[in-house]
Order: sequence, then C-alpha cells, then structure tokens
Amino acid sequence: MARRGNSIIKGIEINEIISVLNKAYADEWLAYYQYFIEAKVIKGIMKDAAIAELTQHAADELRHANMVADRILQLGGTPLLHPQEWFTHTNCGYEEPKDFDVVSILEDSIKGEQCAISVYSHIVEMTRHKDVVTYDIVSQILADEVEHEEDLQTLHDDITEFITDIKKNMH
Ligand code: FE
Ligand code: FE
Ligand code: MG
Repeated sequence: MARRGNSIIKGIEINEIISVLNKAYADEWLAYYQYFIEAKVIKGIMKDAAIAELTQHAADELRHANMVADRILQLGGTPLLHPQEWFTHTNCGYEEPKDFDVVSILEDSIKGEQCAISVYSHIVEMTRHKDVVTYDIVSQILADEVEHEEDLQTLHDDITEFITDIKKNMH
C-alpha cells in the first residue's frame, strides 16, 4: 500500500474507491472474455474486419483489468480473487453471444461499451479533485471505451449499409 501516495486522497473514503474499482475490474474481465469468444464464434459478411476489431478490444480490456488491479493494490485493497465474484460485482454483466451473426455480435458489444462509458464517467466524477491518480487512470480507460464504441458503431454501420446495397442490387 502506498502510504504517502494515499495520504493525498481527500474528501472520499478509500474503501469506497476500492469497491467501485473492484466492480469495474469484474466488468473488464467479463468484457475481455466476451470479446475473446465473440472473435472465435462470429460468422458472416465482413467478419475478418470484425475479428480484427474484437481481438484488439479484448487486448484493451485485459490491459484495463491490469491497470485497475494495480490501482486497487496501491490503495491497499485486494482485487477480486475468484471468477465467481465477477458475476456478483459486475455493473455491466455478460452478454452471452446467442446469435453469431456479425451484426448481432457488434450490437451486443456496443451495448457493453455504452455501459462501460457510464461506469467510468461515474468514477471520473467521483474521484475528480479527490483522488487524482485514480482519476487519471479511469480517464484514460474512459477514453478507450469511447473509442471502442465509436469503432464498433462505425463498423456496424458500414456492414449494415453494405448489406442494404446488396439487397437493393438484387431487386
Ligand atoms: Fe475496458
Ligand atoms: Fe471497451
Ligand atoms: Mg478499436
């Protein structure tokens, strides 16, 4: 635990920060696995472009889990130790891929990113001017989640437009 490092935290309980970070930590692992498995099972048109994006996002979510775990430890907390706890602590849950089609996989993932954006913007607000180090970390993660949503939405729109064009040309 970083003693002097933690003494600069003002106006917020450290345990409260640890608790919200552990919930975000659960979300990151579930997001990592969701992208990992989506990239494996995905089917359909332009799936290679989607696989590249999903794989990159999986790596980002795992990197976020690392960043959050390291901050929890600095604060004197313990990151969740059992995967079962991911489900009891998660904010965003887990969207099991039911339809493997590219468009619905992308839609599931966009929902997840929108949830992540809400979660991190809440932690950003909570820590602003109070815990500058956590604030900086969650701001960086938030910027990544915003980029993730944008990447998936753009890809989703390109693919649905392409499908519409093909259908038009068939008639
Ligand atoms: Fe993330
Ligand atoms: Fe993300
Ligand atoms: Mg991306």
